Amino acid sequence: MNAPAPKVSFVSLGCPKALVDSERIITRLRAEGYELTKTHAGADLVIVNTCGFLDSAKAESLDAIGKGMSENGKVIVTGCMGAEPEQIREAYPGVAAITGPQAYESVMKAVHEVAPPKHDPFLDLVPEQGVKLTPRHYAYLKISEGCNNRCTFCIIPKLRGDLVSRPLADVMREAEKLVAAGVREILVISQDTSAYGVDVKYAPSLWRDVEYRTKFLDLAKALSTLGVWVRMHYVYPYPHVDEVIPLMAEASESGGRILPYLDIPFQHASPNVLKSMRRPAHQEKTLQRIQKWREICPDLAVRSTFIVGFPGETEEDFTQLTDFLTEAKLERVGCFKYEPVRGATANDLGLDMVPDAIKAQRYDRFMRHQQPISAKLLQRRVGKRIKVIIDAPGPTVSKGRSEWDAPEIDGAVYVASKRPLRAGDIVTVKIERADAYDLHGIAV
Ligand code: SF4
Repeated sequence: MNAPAPKVSFVSLGCPKALVDSERIITRLRAEGYELTKTHAGADLVIVNTCGFLDSAKAESLDAIGKGMSENGKVIVTGCMGAEPEQIREAYPGVAAITGPQAYESVMKAVHEVAPPKHDPFLDLVPEQGVKLTPRHYAYLKISEGCNNRCTFCIIPKLRGDLVSRPLADVMREAEKLVAAGVREILVISQDTSAYGVDVKYAPSLWRDVEYRTKFLDLAKALSTLGVWVRMHYVYPYPHVDEVIPLMAEASESGGRILPYLDIPFQHASPNVLKSMRRPAHQEKTLQRIQKWREICPDLAVRSTFIVGFPGETEEDFTQLTDFLTEAKLERVGCFKYEPVRGATANDLGLDMVPDAIKAQRYDRFMRHQQPISAKLLQRRVGKRIKVIIDAPGPTVSKGRSEWDAPEIDGAVYVASKRPLRAGDIVTVKIERADAYDLHGIAV
């Protein structure tokens, strides 16, 4: 009789990029016959995939490690925080192993030491597309690792190194498998999606007998042939982004493929702050660019994130930011209060730190300023028929998202329907009302 399979309790923290790493590790574990369990107690080991970007994320990671130690005792730590093992060892000297981000081989080596695999793994336990932590109908597709930029508030390049792009054909093969496994929406992620291929000088890559360049535009063209929704995240407004907008305009008419959605982390609008942040492409005339994109693709939704309270940010800088929000009319906006991440260059620029009370006040003012802008933009959808992908079916009302909403970060569409809907269904919905963040309508 076979020995029971070793059980692994897996905790995945952090951003979508970390989630992709978790999925890869879990796929490997399942391929080697490990079983996943939801509780630490009774597991043969616990793996914690950490996030080390902000101090609050580090605290969350340390908490998760502590929980693993107290409830189980055999803990392997991986992910961004694993790049700073001293902090972890200091708090929990007994952790079994610590590895950094994307260190799949080291994680598996540590797993083999702590809980050796079953002698006869059932390789066919792994579905063709790998094991996914996201619901079956959408999946993240990571196109590169690392980043060539050096934004002064960010330690990701230190943790993850310079940009390394995956060959286009490799990315497309993964995308094809996801679609074959039932995925209806692909979310393209990386640290800097529009820089895709810069490191390999846009090397040609053959997919389905067609030669593509390893480049943002070519990737968008290739993905648009798969007949699913494709959403672009972490796009910087480099000039060549303009070339992709016409593809999005087609999408908005046909109801599919490259979604009219751009997630661009602008981070600020004041030239002084952007300069101190050393943001890529900050010299671009952003408002004019957004306006031009909307002329080409009127249905485009722009989502962005901003940081308030960056060192040296004055009241005038902050006013420039809220003025920008008024002008730019961005559909979806997120805001963070600056945190002096250990190791970030921003802490050594000799700029005045903004007191916490002012950061909090600017955060509130920022949110209050943006809310009516987003709400007004949402009202435009009332009375329209739009496509909605269903995330969570319900007996009478299901929860879904429009083409302009990414999972987890944007709003929702609540869909009343007489016929049963399934997760991943893309339905036409007549929008009846909008509140501050969400839409409500009826399936037609
Ligand atoms: S673009 Fe800037 S913020 Fe984003 S990962 Fe690179 S350095 Fe960090």
